[in-house]
Amino acid sequence: MAETGYFEAGERVAVLTAEPIGRPLDYRAPEGGCFPGAFVEVPLGPRKVLGVVWGPGEGGFDAAKLRSVIRVLDAAPMREELRTFLVRAGEYTLTPLPQMLRLATRAPGLGEAPGMRKIYRLGQGEPARMTDARTRVLEVLREHGGAGFMLGELAHLAGVTTQVVKGLVASGAVEEGESPRDLPFPRMDARLAGKDLSPDQAAAAARLNAAIRSGGYGTTLLKGVTGSGKTEVYLEAVAECLAQGRQALVLLPEIALTQEFLTRVEARFGARPGEWHSGVTLTERRRLWRMVGEGGCDMVVGARSALFLPFRDLGLIVVDEEHDTSYKQEEGVLYHARDMAVLRASQCSAQVVLASATPSLESWVNAEAGKYTRLDLAARFGVSELPEMAAIDLRGEKMAANQWISPSLAEAVTARLGTGEQSLLFLNRRGFAPVTICRACGHQIGCDHCDARMVEHRFQKRLVCHQCGETKPIPTACPSCHVEGKLAPVGPGVERLAEEVSERFPEARLSVLSSDLFGSARALKEAIGAIAQGAADIIIGTQIVAKGHNFPHLTLVGVIDADLGLQGSDLRAAERTFQLMRQVAGRAGRAEKPGMALLQTHQPEHPVIRAILGGDEEGFWRAEAESRRAMGVPPYGRMAGIILSGPDVAQLFEFGGELARRAEPLRRIGAEIFGPAPAPIARVRGRHRVRLLIKAAKGAPLQAALAQWLAQLRAPNNLRVAVDIDPQSFL
Ligand code: ADP
Ligand code: ZN
Repeated sequence: MAETGYFEAGERVAVLTAEPIGRPLDYRAPEGGCFPGAFVEVPLGPRKVLGVVWGPGEGGFDAAKLRSVIRVLDAAPMREELRTFLVRAGEYTLTPLPQMLRLATRAPGLGEAPGMRKIYRLGQGEPARMTDARTRVLEVLREHGGAGFMLGELAHLAGVTTQVVKGLVASGAVEEGESPRDLPFPRMDARLAGKDLSPDQAAAAARLNAAIRSGGYGTTLLKGVTGSGKTEVYLEAVAECLAQGRQALVLLPEIALTQEFLTRVEARFGARPGEWHSGVTLTERRRLWRMVGEGGCDMVVGARSALFLPFRDLGLIVVDEEHDTSYKQEEGVLYHARDMAVLRASQCSAQVVLASATPSLESWVNAEAGKYTRLDLAARFGVSELPEMAAIDLRGEKMAANQWISPSLAEAVTARLGTGEQSLLFLNRRGFAPVTICRACGHQIGCDHCDARMVEHRFQKRLVCHQCGETKPIPTACPSCHVEGKLAPVGPGVERLAEEVSERFPEARLSVLSSDLFGSARALKEAIGAIAQGAADIIIGTQIVAKGHNFPHLTLVGVIDADLGLQGSDLRAAERTFQLMRQVAGRAGRAEKPGMALLQTHQPEHPVIRAILGGDEEGFWRAEAESRRAMGVPPYGRMAGIILSGPDVAQLFEFGGELARRAEPLRRIGAEIFGPAPAPIARVRGRHRVRLLIKAAKGAPLQAALAQWLAQLRAPNNLRVAVDIDPQSFL
């Protein structure tokens, strides 16, 4: 790829389009020539499609049949940095390049020339008569209408016809105006003073600023409890970056993208940053996309997909709440925004700041290894008080057979019923029972591939290995002693715990949050939203509740089995338990009622339990890292999930089985393959999902082997194959 070349008219150029062709195609450069990276319109069969000039043409294609680029679009050419990032990110996630390009061009009307457009804003007048439809239009404008909407967009958002809007224009309640498309964003003023920093905030900010002035790549883990002033520190880094004339990007988990944060940025820099997330209007999206490329936008606050914007000169990426699981894109291109932020920054010589109160183990390990710089903030500002935390020693509690809620915990739950306070019973165990034991010989049904026990899923009527995903029907006879009818479930999963709660607290409203009980991410999100509003008294949840959701009415967390995370059967169980505990800590200070966390355990003296109760975070991370190392799992080993989806389960298993049988390319690199098995969310929008899991050593060339392996077989037409490098969800 030419660094800064220029292609003369008629010269052969390679153009990448977002069409599923797989590689750039050759065209002739148009009249007037073009730069590498130029956004162009090219003919493809009978259609005209958007493309990017990727480099010199490959040749090979008959020069006489070569078609010409139709025109160069009025947009800043895609920089080499972004092109290389797309290539590398595609290689890492095993995503075809056209799909990567689509991620980088997610704005409408990129080909249109900037001109004037009619926009609609809130006016001064009052409509003679108010209707529901009119009220909705005015509400939409009051809430989001600062920059104005296009007619169709406004009508759509308000759920009304365009006639309703026109009617409001006639009465003066809505103002129709002309606005040039794609105006630059107001400049952020980096010289405005921030708050007076505490000594350790100042020290951290100084380190970050020096790193930014170096002009090179680097990643810093900025750790401090909620309220310790991390945001204030990274806004200093943003100021330094802006002062250097470079752009800054702050990524927030989607749920945390609030007006509150934007207002705070505005107060600090005197202007609102660009916003990029699913709630932004199409016109604003297009404006932002163009303006970051032209340098008309200094700072972007966005969700993970903002990583693919065509920044002119990106100098800083902040990943706030870096441990948040919503940074993992679980649909379409499967990528982890934290990892991609580091990759992009290394391409464009930018600094990355990963901010968290409870960093992911991956980031902690990278900091320990010296790959990331680590900066810690002592708790100082606001509330950092831990909730009351205590162990319930199960050895001293009187509990009936098949009961999992101890009298002490039950008492704490009961005390909250009827008060509007919520209790969360945390059990990181999907399904009905974690162990199936033979009452005749004591044999426990284990997985044939892992040293993990099989978990009974009553909902699915199967035994499932949560380590590798292997499943089998529940046998009637013991596989070891062959005695019939003696197999019994032992221990609780969320399905079984729900039975107990219903029996013991019949008057309580119960909500169970477990990924396999929801058909879609949206359904889950809705359930979570309802709980936050107070729609449940008792919540039973797996690790998905540890996702940084804020439940303001929650004042009790009971960890049903704190020992579970210590057994190593679920990769991230201990980490999530620990993070949940810390997050409860953060929450307790915010709500007016103090929080309480009770851990049921048989081993209150265990180092991990002691670390959690005593707040010894470093001790926890060291112990957890050691156990991951011993198991050879991430970050000390590599994993990939292959997700097959389609309408026909039998066909999925057949194709999955065929893949498993032809695993030679994987075996050559020493990788193990497990499955096919139903995926953690086994059905999404009517399509069944089946998963294979690949485990390899840390240094193994996994992507190359996967590519070779998958290339052996052609998937049937209605079957989709998705590769999930570093899968996050096992539960
Ligand atoms: P975090 O990002 O770690 O949760 P914030 O940066 O949001 O912490 O700080 C928590 C609160 O303390 C905010 O209201 C912030 O305005 C305030 N704060 C932080 N640092 C300072 C400071 N140096 N001086 C005054 N207030 C501060
Ligand atoms: Zn297994």
